[in-house]
Amino acid sequence: MKFGAYVYEQEKASGFDFHLLRVKIETGARIPPVQDMYSNIAVFADNAAARSHPDWISQSPLGPARMGNSNFNIYWSVVCATQPEHRAEQLDYIEDVDRHSLGVWLNSQYFADHGHCTCPRCKELWRKSGLGWLEWRRKEVTDYTDQVRERVKKELVMCIQPDPVTACERYGVDFDDLAKYADAFNVVMFSKNYATPWYWEMLARGFKKLLKKPVYISLYVYGPGDTAKDVPSASELLTVSVRCARAGIDGILYLASGPSQIRDFQKAAVDKVELRERLKSYGDQPVHEVLGLVKSWEKIVG
Ligand SMILES: [Zn+2]
Repeated sequence: MKFGAYVYEQEKASGFDFHLLRVKIETGARIPPVQDMYSNIAVFADNAAARSHPDWISQSPLGPARMGNSNFNIYWSVVCATQPEHRAEQLDYIEDVDRHSLGVWLNSQYFADHGHCTCPRCKELWRKSGLGWLEWRRKEVTDYTDQVRERVKKELVMCIQPDPVTACERYGVDFDDLAKYADAFNVVMFSKNYATPWYWEMLARGFKKLLKKPVYISLYVYGPGDTAKDVPSASELLTVSVRCARAGIDGILYLASGPSQIRDFQKAAVDKVELRERLKSYGDQPVHEVLGLVKSWEKIVG
């Protein structure tokens, strides 16, 4: 297994195999990529683009994909996935970021959610395609992924929502289509607690069965603006890491605002001496790789 730190600051945390930097986040804010870090780009979730071009926002019978529309699991304003200017600008941007880092990990590279997008352009594109609605959406997402792959010379990872069953109906995402272009998948499993690890373990096992490329998962440690009471405990994070590891996944990323929050987590994890001992009985090699990682942090935080 490989372990990554997934951060918002251009600085590497100690004690990980690789580093993923959020160079463009869903607010639309961008920071320069770093040569020896991977780059994470939110493609269509983009508050800034939606603010500058209100007519670009993805539409649906249940309203636009605007932050605050509670019909959907949407925390950001999302641009229509066929918007040609946004698509073109993002392709150029992705190519440039790839050139200046180790590769790109995309998220929000698909439709906003079920029922999207019913803007006049999408309705026209769908009608002309002669395809069924879901099939047309899938083709739009897959074709754009193909265009992305032509631009990305280094590693290309597809981040996907933790929905193994209705990804096509909701996002136009077909796992087998994307596997043809992706070097790996990253299943985003962010939660502000992991009190019931059973569900996360089941999702990890399900995705490992479905996805035809290596499977990473991302766990939530400490986001920008959080306080200590907002975030999962080190015990929950250790337990869920071990339980997802034994489901056969290929790696785990830990999301935090920056190296300082990662280090706080590492220290708290190292201090869970009894739990680390108990978790040794939870499984074979993958479990011991997670526990070995925590052991290696002893000298970082000691
Ligand atoms: Zn549209």
